[in-house]
Amino acid sequence: MQRTEVHKFGGTSLASAERFASAASLVSEARSKTDVIVVASAMAGVTDELVSAASAAARGDKDRGEELIRGIHARHLKTLSLLAGDGEEATRADLDRISRELSDLISGVVLLGQLTPRTLDRIIAAGEKLSVRLFAVALRGLGVSASALDADTFLETDDNFGRANPLGGVADRTIAAAVRPLLEVGEVPVVTGFCGHAPDGATTTLGRGGSDLTATYIASAIGADEVTIWTDVDGVYSADPRVIPEARVIPQLNYREAAEMSFYGAKV
Ligand code: ADP
Ligand code: ASP
Ligand code: MG
Repeated sequence: MQRTEVHKFGGTSLASAERFASAASLVSEARSKTDVIVVASAMAGVTDELVSAASAAARGDKDRGEELIRGIHARHLKTLSLLAGDGEEATRADLDRISRELSDLISGVVLLGQLTPRTLDRIIAAGEKLSVRLFAVALRGLGVSASALDADTFLETDDNFGRANPLGGVADRTIAAAVRPLLEVGEVPVVTGFCGHAPDGATTTLGRGGSDLTATYIASAIGADEVTIWTDVDGVYSADPRVIPEARVIPQLNYREAAEMSFYGAKV
């Protein structure tokens, strides 16, 4: 069987058209040797903006909510035009459709005067849906066949909105069924991190920073050979290098040490 690698890119790696292009060239290089699945987060700052838009709507501030959604839409259109010029009409239509749905959701929250965890998940999962489409464009620009895949169409979770857990066993089968056919025809699936769907079909999210979990979960479900989590630092440091300049890269960590660092708040 062909070797398969999962490559995950966080928001910090997808902050601009140039960043998408460098992420795509890393994938293109890996793709020349193996099958590749990409998992992508929302562009830097987008999930926070979606949370702000939803809270503005919940307190009745429709203008602020809509302004934030318009800003997110414009930023993705701009990035698309830098990546593809006038091409990729279908992708432009997708970005319009997702943004229109976001405006509808914001209006719904304002109208009802209520923001449920279920609605919040539907809103914040959109950041990844926008970014995977741009990632697929960047890959096609390098001659790599790629298709965007929304994980809330196949990654089964429980209905713990805001912190959903993939349903072991069931999710493994539906993930393989969604991803394998693309690999078989030589495409790179570019999967939305962070989201899945509840038993009743509603979009769920796995908790902030959850795209790393999506990447490792998908890798395990399809028996991938390797997972690479790309980010803007060289590895796990002894402390946050943004705060402590003397922090050093830790060359190797076992599960217990990694869990302990995460328990004490290491963002990475
Ligand atoms: P992304 O998912 O967008 O790629 P991460 O969630 O992986 O980003 O966070 C990366 C950031 O985490 C780094 O920019 C760094 O400032 C911060 N960070 C906090 N603690 C650590 C640590 N112990 N080691 C490395 N980076 C850390
Ligand atoms: N975009 C989501 C967040 O900001 C998930 C992730 O980046 O992993 O939390
Ligand atoms: Mg992250």
